[in-house]
Amino acid sequence: MERIAIYGKGGIGKSTTVSNLSAALAQKGLTVMQIGCDPKSDSTINLTGGKRIPTVLEVIRDKDKATRLSDLVFTGSGGVLCVEAGGPKPGIGCAGRGIIAAFEKLAELKADDVYKPDVVIYDVLGDVVCGGFAMPIRNGYADSVCIVTSGESMSLYAADNIAAAVRSFGSRGYASLKGLILNKKGIVNEAAIVAQSAREIDTAILHTIERDPLVQQAEALHQTVIEAFPESPQARSYAALADKLFNCEKTAGRAAACV
Ligand code: ADP
Ligand code: SF4
Ligand code: MG
Repeated sequence: MERIAIYGKGGIGKSTTVSNLSAALAQKGLTVMQIGCDPKSDSTINLTGGKRIPTVLEVIRDKDKATRLSDLVFTGSGGVLCVEAGGPKPGIGCAGRGIIAAFEKLAELKADDVYKPDVVIYDVLGDVVCGGFAMPIRNGYADSVCIVTSGESMSLYAADNIAAAVRSFGSRGYASLKGLILNKKGIVNEAAIVAQSAREIDTAILHTIERDPLVQQAEALHQTVIEAFPESPQARSYAALADKLFNCEKTAGRAAACV
């Protein structure tokens, strides 16, 4: 099982990228679990036909010890297993603590043994790289980290912070940084600006995703681009990202090798 955390500033395109990545991996025959770690709780919405699923924190609050896995894990489009960690009530409690409570509940209920995912992808808000939001990197949950950014300075600033957090934990054997995913905003010299930032962070741009109105058209259908426009260059780009990240053999059943 390969567990990857995709970080980035709010609104940068993490959930869009992650949902399409999950859909692309599922199409290759992998069992994929996508876990939204953003209090916004909309990571998986384009995999569930636009319907919000209950978050782990909401279910724990309501059902406590009576919580069952089927209350937390929902099968979305293409068979992607969808989970939303959720967040505390606004103004009260720690969002990061919420993430860890959700992870602990999934572990307690043995989600990995029951669903046997080949790939777990965490979609994590990276505006504040506090102890709370660093949980997926810190506690051995993720093996590797990718950062979604555009050429906008605020998203590059967030990328720098996330990379610094990964580095500070990396020496203790936690997750390592795979690189940046450039999700283009259409800024002048965008590729060069992000390449320069990648050098400063001592990493690489793994993949570049073009800005494409098909993303909004797919969203209007409550679908991923992979599902709505499977033959489009944008869908092929997400599939190429899946190949770069996982290098998985296309198998009908369980995938053999993921790197
Ligand atoms: P995040 O999860 O980082 O908060 P989202 O994935 O929700 O961000 O994306 C924010 C908005 O940006 C969405 O409305 C989505 O349609 C748009 N978006 C993301 N990536 C692209 C892209 N490559 N082309 C066009 N629109 C995009
Ligand atoms: Fe907020 Fe992060 Fe502090 Fe939790 S750890 S209270 S999420 S700043
Ligand atoms: Mg999101």
